[in-house]
Amino acid sequence: MTEYIVKEDALTAFFQAIANGRRLLAPQGQGENCRLEVATGPVSLDYGNTHLSPKATFFPQTEKILAYHKKADQPKYNQYQDLGDHAEPTVIFGIRPCDAKGLAISNKVFQNDRFTDPYWKGKYESALKIGLACLNPSPQCFCAAMGGSPFGEMGLDVLAYPKEKGLGLKPLTPAGEELVKAASLPSADLASEIKDLEKKAIEAQGPLDTYQIINERKIMELYKADHWSATAEPCLGCGVCTFFCPTCHCFDIQDETSEAGGVRMRNWDTCMSPLFTVHGSGHNPRPSKTERVRQRFMHKLKYIPIKQDGVRGCTGCGRCVVMCPANIDIRTVAATMAQASA
Ligand code: SF4
Ligand code: SF4
Repeated sequence: MTEYIVKEDALTAFFQAIANGRRLLAPQGQGENCRLEVATGPVSLDYGNTHLSPKATFFPQTEKILAYHKKADQPKYNQYQDLGDHAEPTVIFGIRPCDAKGLAISNKVFQNDRFTDPYWKGKYESALKIGLACLNPSPQCFCAAMGGSPFGEMGLDVLAYPKEKGLGLKPLTPAGEELVKAASLPSADLASEIKDLEKKAIEAQGPLDTYQIINERKIMELYKADHWSATAEPCLGCGVCTFFCPTCHCFDIQDETSEAGGVRMRNWDTCMSPLFTVHGSGHNPRPSKTERVRQRFMHKLKYIPIKQDGVRGCTGCGRCVVMCPANIDIRTVAATMAQASA
């Protein structure tokens, strides 16, 4: 596919053209406060990564999925209303490649050959996704070590990158090509520039070996290793790491009821909470913090790669590294996993 250029003075017209009556989400604000939100102000092109990952756009922190009520003379709820998928045609500009990959990983959980989650599907499929490559990855970023790239393409329709105060654009899907063509932009051959910029951005990140060693080690060797109690010790069980993570997708279903009716809600949940795995019987298969912390890292670095053809459940976005109040760093934990003995 042909690449295209957006010059600085054509940026506003470009954003109007790609929105074309749809909701446009784009980076708003600067630095650590940059967020992917409905674009009401200038679109930021210079930020490390957005404070929150874009997962809440497709999988809201809390979502009403069903309402029910009963007629006054009836003993039980007998009328139900599906509250829909809340999808609306959307263009998202500025997803970092690590976050687009995170959404693609979750997409395989919510849509696969066994079942389809209609609430995720509607939102995910009604959004066109334009990524913004990272020329200068932040110190906490390690996407390349996780099999990605600051110019990664997984889960995107178009990959953009900052270029002379404007943008370079590489369409990746037919929908992305159509979206970019609608903006009537000059075309250009950007392939070798993209390759050079990607090489430089990858070289700025840390070593890759640790994760290969984890790939090669057996599940039970990693699971039974003697470091887990020490690794888990500082954890407060707050769940911040999972709420900020672009690939964490666990949820709970709760009903808010009254005499006349109720609403069924889907809410984010976290494997770092002791309540997460409590069975109806009261039994808890992961009763201790050590077991919960081990589960999180084993899931990201071992179980998901087995289920998703080698794709790791961590995209190296670095949010948990920055946000964990106990300074638990997944890069350090991965290095310990690679070296520890059972
Ligand atoms: S953010 Fe840190 S302290 Fe909180 S649950 Fe995660 S690992 Fe534990
Ligand atoms: S585990 Fe941490 S670094 Fe990896 S994708 Fe999740 S938040 Fe980002």
